[in-house]
Amino acid sequence: MSTQQLAIQGGPKAKTTPFGTGKRFGLEEAQELLEALEQNTLFYHFGKKVKKFLADFNELYGVKYSVATTSGTASIHVALGAAGVTVGDEVITSPITDQGTLIGILYQNAIPVFADLDPHTYNMTPETIEAKITPRTKAIVVVHLAGNSADMDAIMAIARKHNVKVIEDCAQSYMTRYKGKLVGTIGDYGCFSTNDFKHISTGDGGIVTVNSGDEQDFMATHAFADKNFKRFGDAVQKDLHFLAPNYRMTELQGAVGIAQLKKLPWICEQRHKYGDRITQGISGLPGIQVHQVNEENYCSYWFYMLRLDVSELTCTRKEFSEALAAEGIPNQAGYIAAVMYMQPIFQKRQAYLGSQFPFDITGITYHQGDCPNGEAILETAIRFGVSEFYTDEDVEDIIAAIRKVSLHFAKQPAVSETK
Ligand SMILES: *Cc1c(COP(=O)(O)O)cnc(C)c1O
Repeated sequence: MSTQQLAIQGGPKAKTTPFGTGKRFGLEEAQELLEALEQNTLFYHFGKKVKKFLADFNELYGVKYSVATTSGTASIHVALGAAGVTVGDEVITSPITDQGTLIGILYQNAIPVFADLDPHTYNMTPETIEAKITPRTKAIVVVHLAGNSADMDAIMAIARKHNVKVIEDCAQSYMTRYKGKLVGTIGDYGCFSTNDFKHISTGDGGIVTVNSGDEQDFMATHAFADKNFKRFGDAVQKDLHFLAPNYRMTELQGAVGIAQLKKLPWICEQRHKYGDRITQGISGLPGIQVHQVNEENYCSYWFYMLRLDVSELTCTRKEFSEALAAEGIPNQAGYIAAVMYMQPIFQKRQAYLGSQFPFDITGITYHQGDCPNGEAILETAIRFGVSEFYTDEDVEDIIAAIRKVSLHFAKQPAVSETK
């Protein structure tokens, strides 16, 4: 097999033109911000911007109720609070995620329990979730990683059977569809982040959908993000019934959010098209395992993450990653440094300084090897960005570069195998 000389060895680069870029914010956001300031209040309940942002989001998502928050982390905390997750409850979640998934669980003094992942979709599987259910299990926080849906029918069936709540972490998965349904509308609550690195940005911010459509549930969720204030119309109910933080979104974020939401469908369409094209372009290459999206689902690729099967290659992951970078495709060998349960907070079982609470309630310990697929994914992954501002040419260059590096490092078939 003849292969091209790699750029890292002095050959020509696969990508010779700069990647397409663009501005995320424009006059649309500026206009909304100006209007917000002209209201003479930046408080969500007195102004119109957060209300409009949520109304637009509800329409886009086809849901009746949602609540705005200060972050994705806050959204997940609010959903857990609304779901009644409390001291000593167990919450099943994913070992590959942002720490924002876990923080609310520990603030509720509940205990994170990690379920293993599908080796190619990188999402928790129904089987691994069910194996972790105990009488203490109160909720499952399903992380839809990188724009890709988890297997929701089976997960919902398990949750209903065991009477546990389902919170969808959609921080990386805007407009992602599971069998045609938008993720974030399937579980009891759907949580979104508008931090500056997500599909859309309000600087920081978040949204929680209340999918029961039940008004009491909505009021409880709303109150949990607003110090227990219940503000509906002119009536404000300030009684402090239970512990709730202040996670209120301001009118400034709401204003930017209104303009950003209008761009969201296009952003997701672009990423979907580019991600799927990359999969098509690199399928079947030696040593390459694609970012798998199940056929009936729609992925909005927050990033693209393939896995290497180094048994088919003559290089290490590091060499592959460096060769790909030299071809002009910036990439990362891996994603987060390690599965979440290897973080000091779990290894030392210390969420609060000088305390082992809540871990000591059940005596849970966390070990290397707990989720073998999750660990293997992080050890073999090559990750790179997918941007809505890329051009078709950028995407073809990514494919060409991966193809070049893969074929270069492909093991020659053994002589006895060539008949
Ligand atoms: C970004 C992210 C969060 C947290 O969102 P913030 O707005 O940064 O608090 C939670 N879960 C996942 C999967 C994320 O990617």
